[in-house]
Amino acid sequence: MIIADKNTKAVDLVRAALEKAKEYEEYHAFISMNEARALEHAREIDAKIEKGEPVGRLAGVPFALKDNYLSPEGMTTAAAKMLEDFASPITATAVKKLEAEGAIMIGRANLDAYAHGGSTENSYFGPTSNAHDKTRVAGGSSGGSAVAVALDIVPFALGSDTGGSIRQPASFNGVVGVKPTYGTVSRYGVVAMASSTDVMGCFAKNVEDANLIMSIIAGKDAKDSTTLNDFWTKNLADAKPEKKKIGLITDFMGEGIDEDVKKTVKDYAAKLKKAGYTVEDVNIPMLKYALAIYYIVQPAEVASNLSRYDGIRYGHRSSDIKGLNDVYSNSRNEGFMSENKRRILIGNFVLSSGFFDAYFVKAQKARTLLINAYNDVFKEYDALLCPVSPRPAFKLGENTSDPLQMYLEDVMTVPPSMAGIPAISVPAGKSKEGLPIGVQLVGPRQSDQILLHIASELEDK
Ligand code: GLN
Repeated sequence: MIIADKNTKAVDLVRAALEKAKEYEEYHAFISMNEARALEHAREIDAKIEKGEPVGRLAGVPFALKDNYLSPEGMTTAAAKMLEDFASPITATAVKKLEAEGAIMIGRANLDAYAHGGSTENSYFGPTSNAHDKTRVAGGSSGGSAVAVALDIVPFALGSDTGGSIRQPASFNGVVGVKPTYGTVSRYGVVAMASSTDVMGCFAKNVEDANLIMSIIAGKDAKDSTTLNDFWTKNLADAKPEKKKIGLITDFMGEGIDEDVKKTVKDYAAKLKKAGYTVEDVNIPMLKYALAIYYIVQPAEVASNLSRYDGIRYGHRSSDIKGLNDVYSNSRNEGFMSENKRRILIGNFVLSSGFFDAYFVKAQKARTLLINAYNDVFKEYDALLCPVSPRPAFKLGENTSDPLQMYLEDVMTVPPSMAGIPAISVPAGKSKEGLPIGVQLVGPRQSDQILLHIASELEDK
């Protein structure tokens, strides 16, 4: 990562990033650019460097911000009509921390509206294209962030991951994606999706950069009571796994998984062995229930979180209003995308008095069993290895009329989300068509840096 100093001007770094963003405009990685303010910040940093004042570890480093992070610079839209004109009065904690280190937000990256999706096709502003093939999806929901890094517009970007939204687009575009342990990074100032699994993380070109960004944004925040004390404190070289034992999840190597994806995982396992790791097959029967658990718990939380958009307090208000009910229903009908509405309907259904025990309570019980199953295997293994996604980036439009198919794509990313454990996606291979394929490393709570350490040992090998 190039950082501004006496010889490298922050203004030049930011200008270059803005120019590249323009050059690649057709990929639609960004919803809006922050040109004027970004250049102003860069000039301030250059002036400080000139005077010999401290400027932080990310001085002048441009970054892309998933447009569900609140910041007063420009509009925070969450890619929904509902928030199209929403100017935030506050700044998300993660953004504040990056800015305190001199990083500069150059633009707001595209996403599936409210982070509901796995392709960035659910954006009110239109889809983002994959960095390696314009006819394919970027992945999602943090598609814009992944593409901005993959196209070398910025060296890093922020994303959020509720059930795979950092890992899957990272895999689809060939960059590193980090979904930390639940509670690592403050959720303050990020548009809520499913509060019990939402985590904030990043995309970067390599493991070392990802580690640096995470070490900056991690830590306790009085504004988010679920945050953990800062544990992201080691040098990556020192975050060594104790047992040097990795479990290869066989449940995700069978039917329905693309051959190139399987080969990439097997090759990665072989490289781990070469690097001195023991790799053994593990079978975790509970994993087959994770997707069903996720698509009950997550919509329930979505339905609750999105109830705040009522057309009254903030966000879109319909102009087609004849009575009070129209304020709510027409505003919500116009402001949300179909996928948002689908989740609100499912969520309210599983929470309704007749079905609460049968669905929501049962899913929460199954969730505990899933957590226990993970805890058991982590007695034996430092980490688990599996694919990120059943196949490489699919074609734009391929899944849009089939929501169930879209949900099935999340089968391997949602289990760690439901358990609150860390999982990273690292580039590991290519399909026959030349599309990037990542592998996923999953570890016990707060083993995030160990996962990055393992990945760093294999990087570029
Ligand atoms: N693709 C998953 C979903 O649609 C995950 C989304 C996310 O992590 N924000 O729910």
